[in-house]
Amino acid sequence: MQTAELIWEIKNNIEKIGRSLKIIEVCGTHTVSIYKNGFPAVFEGYIDFISGPGCPVCVTHEGYIDRLVELSSEWTIYTFGDLLKVPGSSKSLSQARANGGKIKVMYSPVDAVEHLENNEKVIFAAVGFETTAPAFALSLEKVIEKGLKNVKFACELKTIDEPLKSFLQNHIRVDGIILPGHVATVIGVDGFKFVERFKVASVISGFEGYDILLSLLSITQDILSEDFTVKNEYKRVVKKEGNVIAKGYIEKYFERTSAFFRGLGLIPGGGLKIKDEFSEYSIDISYDHTKQKDSLCRCADVLTGKIKPFECPLFEKVCTPISPKGACMVSQEGSCNAYFRYGKWK
Ligand code: SF4
Repeated sequence: MQTAELIWEIKNNIEKIGRSLKIIEVCGTHTVSIYKNGFPAVFEGYIDFISGPGCPVCVTHEGYIDRLVELSSEWTIYTFGDLLKVPGSSKSLSQARANGGKIKVMYSPVDAVEHLENNEKVIFAAVGFETTAPAFALSLEKVIEKGLKNVKFACELKTIDEPLKSFLQNHIRVDGIILPGHVATVIGVDGFKFVERFKVASVISGFEGYDILLSLLSITQDILSEDFTVKNEYKRVVKKEGNVIAKGYIEKYFERTSAFFRGLGLIPGGGLKIKDEFSEYSIDISYDHTKQKDSLCRCADVLTGKIKPFECPLFEKVCTPISPKGACMVSQEGSCNAYFRYGKWK
């Protein structure tokens, strides 16, 4: 089907449904693709796109950044670049580095471990969802194999199922969910079966504009036929059972724990921590999640669909990708950042 035909078909289905739809995309890469392709404008009056809690940088509490900043005077912190500019309560990792903090950007924790020496005191800032967790599990395995004794993991890894359940139970009612294709490569279609009990149309989607359109078509068809089984429009990559090897690595080294999500709060089972038998490789990064910096940033409301980025009083005026005031503007996959770059139709 041609793109224009697909768009026509989706709109036609929505007209048959008889009301505009609220559709949440969980993954930040989908957020970017939706804005980049101008879909909020294409479907204005038909679909209200809401960004969910699937960007790991956006949901990270500033207390975690504060702990890394503190530790960077004694340990070398290895982090993904996205985390560098996330504001802590007093400074970001980037500012801490400018003040002498030992902070290095890594592209892959597995590669980083290859180059470590035995006496280096290193902390890996382990942030991400099930997509990233296997890489940290493999890094931990390599640390053990190399006999490195001064390497720790500051685990802030998240799972996707519990925050999504929390969103569907406690926040705005949505008509459809575009499920994250990357996480689905690991946990499979089976890993999202829990969504079916919420009676919401859902589909695992690829990331190109055409993939998103196919997913929107699937959602509208499912609403019309009241079919709430999880669909897979990313079959070229996602299998029913997911990636068994990657899941095996997660299970070998991590177990579920509570985790804080900006906008959703503390979610039991929403995170991963290193299993007790490997605890010598874990460093305590606990922080008081109830303490939040007094700020006008409204990331929490953006992440739960209460407001659009342009409704935040700081958006574009003082908060930009160059001078971000909140995590949703820092991350390339954050909705404020995507809106700033591509959402100029408003
Ligand atoms: Fe926070 Fe900036 Fe987004 Fe406002 S525009 S919610 S300050 S990140």
